Amino acid sequence: MLLTITTTHRPATDLGYLLHKHPGRFQSYDLSFGQAHVFYPEASDGRCAACLLLDVDPVGLVRGRGGDGGGGSLLAQYVNDRPYTASSFLSVAIAQVFGSALGGRCKDRPDLATAPIPLEARIDVLPVRGGEAFLRAVFEPLGYAVEAERHPLDERFPEWGESPYFSVTIAGETTLADLLTHLYVLIPVFDGQKHYFVGEDELEKLLAKGGGWLARHPQKDEIARRYLRFRPSLYRQALARLVQEEQPAEAGPEGDERPADRAEDALERPLSLHEQRIGAVLAALRASGARRVLDLGCGEGRLLRELLKDKQFEEIVGMDVSIRSLENARDRLKLDRLPERQAARIRLIHGSLIYRDRRLEGFDAAAVVEVVEHLDPPRLSAFERAVFEFARPRAVVLTTPNREYNVTWEGVGADRLRHSDHRFEWTRQEFRDWAERVAGQHGYRVRFLPVGPVDEALGPPTQMAVFERD
Ligand code: SAH
Repeated sequence: MLLTITTTHRPATDLGYLLHKHPGRFQSYDLSFGQAHVFYPEASDGRCAACLLLDVDPVGLVRGRGGDGGGGSLLAQYVNDRPYTASSFLSVAIAQVFGSALGGRCKDRPDLATAPIPLEARIDVLPVRGGEAFLRAVFEPLGYAVEAERHPLDERFPEWGESPYFSVTIAGETTLADLLTHLYVLIPVFDGQKHYFVGEDELEKLLAKGGGWLARHPQKDEIARRYLRFRPSLYRQALARLVQEEQPAEAGPEGDERPADRAEDALERPLSLHEQRIGAVLAALRASGARRVLDLGCGEGRLLRELLKDKQFEEIVGMDVSIRSLENARDRLKLDRLPERQAARIRLIHGSLIYRDRRLEGFDAAAVVEVVEHLDPPRLSAFERAVFEFARPRAVVLTTPNREYNVTWEGVGADRLRHSDHRFEWTRQEFRDWAERVAGQHGYRVRFLPVGPVDEALGPPTQMAVFERD
């Protein structure tokens, strides 16, 4: 990861004073997550460039933290983009290596530290959630000219498409302290990953470094939300304080974090995408008024367990093609030990969704959660008939991954599918087209709902369709 700061202010080598780093030296610094190096590829009167090269050690990170370093598979902890992309690590490095410059302090050239000079910062590379439009929406209101070059996932395989990684240059007349502050606050905003530093003092840092410019920024809500995305209560607090800064006379102080916020954090943080999906499907099934429900491709029974807890569902049938999954479901649900009345409500059956099956007829609703993408495309039409023509429940609640969202995740394989057994993953448009055709052919209405955090450009991680007929 490389940050290059260039000036054409004369004499340009004054940049060395501003950064407190001698243009003639190569200097290295040990940081908690790796090493930072500072050097000047160019240092003349007319033009001077300083590089901050970050060498993030992903293995050290995992070892240092012990156990699961922030979720994800073991492989993803070791093989990921952290060493190569600008993230909150870069912010930490800016604060530690260019601390005086960030604070606007310069003993040798105090006037220069407060004078706007022509400056340019180039970042190789920045993962940009929200794409170039968001990049411009963030930097242009601060007076920068923005250049962005998007990189393909792999130059040798253009058909894999674009990556979320950009080489970004921002240029303007500004003080070095402002430029570094903008980078410090804004770089983590583009990155889709959990920040390296997420603590109570995050809010203070954001507000202290953000100062007046953040309160006036047209994207301030989105910036604060992304910056503090793993701490919803802090996000609300930050927004409240930004509003306060803007209208000091009107808004009274918000006070401390409410206990309810903490409870909400505790509730929201561990809610995995899978749990959100089950919650969304459950809500749709409840709203349909169904009493007799099918869970088609029930897997190990995670939805079944929730259905059992709700008395609205009087008859629950889980079906899967995998005997092993059904056995696991039976064990997890402790079906052998359920009280008789509970046991009478639920059945597991073995079967395949690509054949007509009379046991599936006459139900109010069916859930098909993360199953279609496991079917071979030539079998899809058989599945459509089995569910919508023959089983024909009044409502079908179906979820599947949104392929567009995959670029935001580390560790999604080179083929960019989330799971090795997925035969395909649909974009939002492909899913819509499929679902609308199926609904039209079989006399259903269909509506679409997002599941999980919605990215403004890429949509939600999971897409859900609710089919209903009269
Ligand atoms: N719905 C579950 C499991 C999703 S994994 C959940 O959300 O946790 C996909 C499941 O679909 C697997 O359990 C797999 O065995 C099942 N499946 C795949 N092809 C199937 C078919 N043709 N008929 C029935 N189930 C199938």
